[in-house]
Amino acid sequence: MLQTANSTSAPQTDLAFQRCINPTCGATYEANSVRTSCDKCGDLLDIDYEWDRAVLPKKLSEFEAMWNQRTNPVRFSGVWRFHELLPFVPQDKIVTVGEGQTLLQQTDSVGDYVGMNHGKLHLQYEGMNPSGSFKDNGMCAAVTHAAMMGAKRAACASTGNTSASLALYCSATRLMRAVIFIGSGKISYGKLSQALDYGALTVQIAGDFDDAMIRVKQVSQELGIYLVNSVNPFRLEGQKTIMFRILEALRWEVPDWIVVPGGNLGNSSAFGKAFSELKALGLIDRMPRLAVINASGADTLYELVERRGVRWNGGHVNMDPIREYNDLMDREGKKADTIASAIEINRPVNLKKCLRALDTMDGVVRQVSDQEILDAKAKVGAGGFGCEPASAASVAGAKLLRREGVIAPSDRVVCILTGHELKDPTATVAYHTTDQEVFNKTLGSRGVTKASHANRAIAVPNELDDIIKAIQLYS
Ligand SMILES: *Cc1c(COP(=O)(O)O)cnc(C)c1O
Ligand SMILES: [Zn+2]
Repeated sequence: MLQTANSTSAPQTDLAFQRCINPTCGATYEANSVRTSCDKCGDLLDIDYEWDRAVLPKKLSEFEAMWNQRTNPVRFSGVWRFHELLPFVPQDKIVTVGEGQTLLQQTDSVGDYVGMNHGKLHLQYEGMNPSGSFKDNGMCAAVTHAAMMGAKRAACASTGNTSASLALYCSATRLMRAVIFIGSGKISYGKLSQALDYGALTVQIAGDFDDAMIRVKQVSQELGIYLVNSVNPFRLEGQKTIMFRILEALRWEVPDWIVVPGGNLGNSSAFGKAFSELKALGLIDRMPRLAVINASGADTLYELVERRGVRWNGGHVNMDPIREYNDLMDREGKKADTIASAIEINRPVNLKKCLRALDTMDGVVRQVSDQEILDAKAKVGAGGFGCEPASAASVAGAKLLRREGVIAPSDRVVCILTGHELKDPTATVAYHTTDQEVFNKTLGSRGVTKASHANRAIAVPNELDDIIKAIQLYS
């Protein structure tokens, strides 16, 4: 297992600092400090760099040379081979387990389903990461920063994939102990099993995810534990590299659309930051458009942006509609509810950063039902890729935007598949089942009425003739 790397040529790393995203505040802090919000105004923090002092490649294609250095764990990593574009750490302090060996796949079978011309739909398969989700891109950056800060313990509350990722990094590197807070119920077995198997201290709160979130913050403060939850700005630095790898796979051409599921909105925020930095550095000449897809059972971003007109507005976000909507959710006791558990979130912590990304990338927000998510997921699986339910929201969202004519059939579209198929087998088996009771219990309660793309097992008596007949009939 690769851990900290030997230093070879390394970018300068005294360029990084933390900056409040609120332009009327604009407070800055050292990169070598632990914060989850601005001391002055409480807003989110960005990692920023003094780019004018940085030594950068003149063209993105110069990063291809990093492939020749694969024996160096830093350059093997799909995150850290772009170290020059996230230079907050000296190269010999980098933590890596070889994350980011992910694929951009072009697929016409899924493309036909979405309604694209052939050759135009791509799937960025982040389920191939060591812990099975895109979270590893960000976790290697957060654990790197935690180690720089001398942390002995790191904690998070999670719907599952963040905790799986943290648990993996902590046990693989032995640099610190993982403390994981989960609510009762909801978390899928695939994800829970990872936290347990990787040996994380797993604290199950008698409450839901929101309760776990409140407690992990209190406990981290009390015990001085490093918090890697979604407001950690270093995670987003690692997640920028998903976009760099897409550009790399497209031979450094910018696609027309990036389509991503939206939960806590860290990914969409990181993608916006990645492209605005590349543009400002003159490394790309145009921006792709961004589509963030909510599940209809957890559609706060959609409600705020598309129905209530909330915008980034140069950093002067009108908070009134946001407060009103939060109050409304409180009054009605509205809880997020979707089969796509990784995006089952009603109060996305990176909301403002996502508004900024939507602004810089001329973005749109859509919502899709659990029915649409599971149908799209079956198509992704049948295409030979496979993903967990939340990931398929990107494909269902692309299909919707095609139907609306927002995406043209000739556009070059990349959907992010955020998590691995095996993360949540319960949903998959329920979709394909012949057992109506299993279907109703898991999916019917969520408004899923049919499984149009189900691949049903055939039941046969234990008789050779019957088995042969059945195979001849069905294949
Ligand atoms: C965390 C997660 C998401 C949501 O990503 P955000 O950055 O929180 O918007 C989507 N899909 C999967 C599989 C995830 O693990
Ligand atoms: Zn501030």
